[in-house]
Amino acid sequence: MQPDGHLSSTSVCLYPSRLFGKTARRKGTEVLIETFIRKQLRLKAPTVTRVEEDNECMIVRIDRLGKRLLRCGVCGHRCREVHDVRAERQWRDLPMRRLPLILRYCPRRVDCPRCGVRVEAFPWAEPWARVTSALAHAVAMLARELSWQGTAREYRLDWKSVATIVKRAVAYGLRNRARPPVHVIGIDEVSRRKGQLYLTVVYDLERRVLLWVGEDRTEEAVRRFFTEELGRRRCRTLRVVCMDMWAPYIHLVQRHAPNAQILFDRFHIVKHLNEAVDEVRRSLWRRLSVQERATFKGTRWLLLKNPWNLNDSQRERLSTLVRWNTPLVRAWYLKEAFQLFWAYQQRKRAEDHLGKWMNSAMRSKLEPFKKFVRMLRSHLDGVLAWTKTRVSNGAVEGMNNKIKSISHRSFGFRSPKHFITAIYHCCARLPLPNER
Ligand SMILES: [Zn+2]
Repeated sequence: MQPDGHLSSTSVCLYPSRLFGKTARRKGTEVLIETFIRKQLRLKAPTVTRVEEDNECMIVRIDRLGKRLLRCGVCGHRCREVHDVRAERQWRDLPMRRLPLILRYCPRRVDCPRCGVRVEAFPWAEPWARVTSALAHAVAMLARELSWQGTAREYRLDWKSVATIVKRAVAYGLRNRARPPVHVIGIDEVSRRKGQLYLTVVYDLERRVLLWVGEDRTEEAVRRFFTEELGRRRCRTLRVVCMDMWAPYIHLVQRHAPNAQILFDRFHIVKHLNEAVDEVRRSLWRRLSVQERATFKGTRWLLLKNPWNLNDSQRERLSTLVRWNTPLVRAWYLKEAFQLFWAYQQRKRAEDHLGKWMNSAMRSKLEPFKKFVRMLRSHLDGVLAWTKTRVSNGAVEGMNNKIKSISHRSFGFRSPKHFITAIYHCCARLPLPNER
């Protein structure tokens, strides 16, 4: 470097020879494809003998290198004795550019001093797998984003292979995932096929991660979460359980986590309230003549929307509706008045508000609202718990939407077992088996 900051012409000239000397003149950087694949697969005892290529795929033939010691497939012990050579097996590997890659090898059975005669361990795959660990890892990663069908198409596998890979990845993840103490959980239900099939999902609302999925929503089915997934010791750390007013869930929490506060989920309560408004609207609709129905059409969303989200013409229609139809108006005002409850900080004040509201709802002569009040009355403690612990399953709404999209994109899931596997895979942040 010259004092003025420019490189001098002489230093440019000297640069290569000074740095690299003789080693710079190595003979080419040619690497045989066999060597490349051997290094990629990290083969030690076996080696790549030949690589063939046709229009369909690339076939990599592997054989044992000399008398190198093989490892036992069960315990990993190095074994001196080879018992016999089995018929050739093949494994799918990550594609080479556009071509699917296939490994072919005749597995040996070794005579392990600890386990007896066993098939050797393969450095590229799990003993049972028909794809390499690298491909399995790539498939599992992609299956978190795409449907199993789409993933299969991407790697030119069949749906069943993808299902097997994901199932194994989930089983591994469930065995090896971190299990820190849980304090706040949310129990929710997911319905499929228009409510014919229910699943129960349990979230850790603090870490915002899925803890458990189970078939059905009966007490019998969900008990397994408390007995098997949590166990008695971890149940003791539960402080708040957020859920819908669903008797089986309530019984379970009272039974297995008596110290936890039951909190009825804000979003579920609002849902029940909206259903009451809708019920009033529908019973009115049934009593209307055809002409009257025309004016009345499309009011459902007007009534359920928050008033500040309405545009001018919608507001106009709502006010016509208000002047025109009294039971519906009462229902609408009741709904709006109830919503004030969520702002209260003090339990006493919230209780007063709720008491007054329930009285006026009982006097409203609207049967759906009376039903709603009766439900609130019998669950009052869990409703008022909101003032103390402001959590709701809304924290994991994103996850619920994800589950819905999994359900949408995979019509292929005939059995709930596959659906449950896919939910765990996408929402539980499970560790994947290490790529090799
Ligand atoms: Zn062994």
